[in-house]
Amino acid sequence: MVHNRTRARTYQLEIEVGRPLRIAIGRLGEFDFPAGRYVYTGSARRGLDARVRRHLSGARRLHWHIDYLLATSGVRITDVSTTDEPECTANQRTSGAIVVQGFGSSDCTSDCGSHLKLVARQRPRKFSADRRNTPGAVIASAAKQARLTANRHVTGSQPGIAPQKP
Ligand SMILES: [Zn+2]
Repeated sequence: MVHNRTRARTYQLEIEVGRPLRIAIGRLGEFDFPAGRYVYTGSARRGLDARVRRHLSGARRLHWHIDYLLATSGVRITDVSTTDEPECTANQRTSGAIVVQGFGSSDCTSDCGSHLKLVARQRPRKFSADRRNTPGAVIASAAKQARLTANRHVTGSQPGIAPQKP
């Protein structure tokens, strides 16, 4: 029974920054991002799938620090994984360099410094091998959900209910 509670709540996005970029990250300011592979660790207590889907489809409103990074051309998500671990545990298990102090860690309780890490500077394209390890299911279900939502929008947009005359 207790097991039902330990559903995935933490996600990690593997992000590729294709070329060196200078990006303004909301109120944190402007930062230089070396080209390379990054891992962002986030969590959603509820609606993890929805959150991941939001990241994959591109947020319309920039809210989290990660939104600013992902909205930049030349930046893309190359992988998604989820875990039962607490966000900070997963983040600290991921070794890499901090590029932006305080990135995504406004509610960090473990002094991570940043929930975005540069795990590898730009390297030749050869990480197709380790992509196998990660659950494509999340991405697949995200894509499916996105379609469902799109359909709903179409069918749900019936001509409005005319205001009743008093
Ligand atoms: Zn943390």
